[in-house]
Amino acid sequence: MHLRDSESDAAFRAEVRAWLRSAVTEVPPEPDSNDWPARRSRDTLWQRMLFDAGYAGVNWPAEHGGRGATPTEHLIFLQESAAAKAPDVGVGFVGQMHAGPTIIAEGTEAQKSHHLRGILTGEHAWCQGFSEPGAGSDLASLRTRAVRDGDDYVISGQKIWTSHAMVADYCEMLVRTDPDAPKHKGITWLIVPMDAAGIDVRPLITAQGSAEFAELFLDEVRVPITNRVGEENDGWRVANVTLSFERGTGFVGELLDTTNVHAELVRLAHELPHRNGTAWDDDGIRRELGEIAAELDALWAFTKRNVSQGAKGMMAMGSGSAFKVAYATVIHRMGDLALRVLDRSSLTMTSLDGRPTGEQVLSKLHAFGISLGGGTTQIQQNIIAERVLGLPRER
Ligand SMILES: Cc1cc2nc3c(=O)[nH]c(=O)nc-3n(C[C@H](O)[C@H](O)[C@H](O)COP(=O)(O)OP(=O)(O)OC[C@H]3O[C@@H](n4cnc5c(N)ncnc54)[C@H](O)[C@@H]3O)c2cc1C
Repeated sequence: MHLRDSESDAAFRAEVRAWLRSAVTEVPPEPDSNDWPARRSRDTLWQRMLFDAGYAGVNWPAEHGGRGATPTEHLIFLQESAAAKAPDVGVGFVGQMHAGPTIIAEGTEAQKSHHLRGILTGEHAWCQGFSEPGAGSDLASLRTRAVRDGDDYVISGQKIWTSHAMVADYCEMLVRTDPDAPKHKGITWLIVPMDAAGIDVRPLITAQGSAEFAELFLDEVRVPITNRVGEENDGWRVANVTLSFERGTGFVGELLDTTNVHAELVRLAHELPHRNGTAWDDDGIRRELGEIAAELDALWAFTKRNVSQGAKGMMAMGSGSAFKVAYATVIHRMGDLALRVLDRSSLTMTSLDGRPTGEQVLSKLHAFGISLGGGTTQIQQNIIAERVLGLPRER
C-alpha cells in the first residue's frame, strides 16, 4: 500500500482539484431536502457536468464509458470532491454504485448499450427494489411474484424502503420466479421501468422529515423477458454481485462527508457556550472529538488498504462488513457527542443563530439509517463471525 501520492496520482489530484474548484461554483444551491424533483435536477446537472468533463464513472471500465481510473485515482477523486464540497452522488447512487456495475458484470450487450450511458450522463436514475415487508435481513424470503406470460414477466407484490423511487426511471428488482424451489434458488433479477403500468409508488417519510423512501405496490406489471439480468432463478447470485458493489466502495463518499461534519463540529465546539466557557474548554468533549477524529482517520486508512488489496485481487474476506460496522459505530458516537455539544440547539433540526447546528442533528438521525441500509450491523457481524472468524453458522 502506498500512503503518499505517486507522481501520476499527484498530477491527477491537481487536475481534479482545479476542475472542481471552478465547477462547484456553477452548481445551484441545494433545494429543500424534501423537494425530490428539484434534488433530482440538481444531481442530474452535476452528473452531466462530470460526464462532459470525463469524470463520470471514474472507476468504471473505459470500454463501458467510464474513465477506467485506478482504484487509488478513484479514492483521490472522492477525497477531492468531499474537500471541494461538491454535490454527492445523490439520486445517482443505485445506478452508479451498483445497478450499472451489475449490468457491466452480468448484463447482455443490449442491456449494456441501452442503460450504461444514461446512468453515466445522469439522464436515468435508478432505485433498488430488493426489500419487502417480510424480507429485509432475510432477503431470500422475498415473495413478489413474476410469472412468465409469452415474452413478458408479469409481476405482482410489494417492495418497501425503496430509496429515491419517486424520481427513479428504472428499478433493479428481485422477484420470485419459482415458488417451489428452495428460497435462494427461485429468485430472478429484473430491470423494471418505473413508468410501467401497475406500479403504485407511495412515499414514506423518514425521521429526517423527507420522503426519501417509498413503498412500491406492483399489480400485474408487465416487463419483457429481455429485461432479465442473468438466468431465470439465478437472481440470488446476481444479487450478491450487486451487494458486493454496494458494500464495497459504496460508503467511501459517506465517510469523507462525515469527516467534513466532524470538522464542522469542532468549529461549533469552539463557539457554543458550555458551562462557564465553550464546549471546546471541556476536557471530556475535546478528548472525544480527538478520538472520533482518530477513528475516522483509521477508517480512511482501512479504506486505502482495502482498495490497495482489492487492486491486487486479494481483498480480505469480510472487509466491507468490518468497514460498515466500524463506520456505523463511529457515526453514532459522533452524533451523540454533537447532541451534547449543541445542548439545547439539538432540540431542533433547523440551524440556529446562523450556525450549521441542524446539519449535526440530521447527521445523528442519518446514523440510524447507516446501521440498517445495505444490511444491518447485526447482519454484518454475522457475516464476520461466520465467514471470517469461522464461528458456527446461525440456525
Ligand atoms: C437508509 C436506508 C435505505 C434503504 N434503501 C433501500 C433500498 O433502496 N432498497 C431496498 O430494497 N431496501 C432498502 N433499505 C432496506 C434495508 O435493506 C433493510 O432495512 C435492512 O435490510 C433490514 O431489514 P428490515 O428493515 O426488514 O429489518 P429486519 O430484517 O426485520 O431486522 C430487524 C432487526 O432484527 C435484526 N436481525 C434480523 N435478523 C437477524 C439475524 N439473523 N441475526 C441478528 N439480528 C438479526 C436486525 O439487525 C434488526 O436490528 C434501506 C434501509 C435504510 C435504513
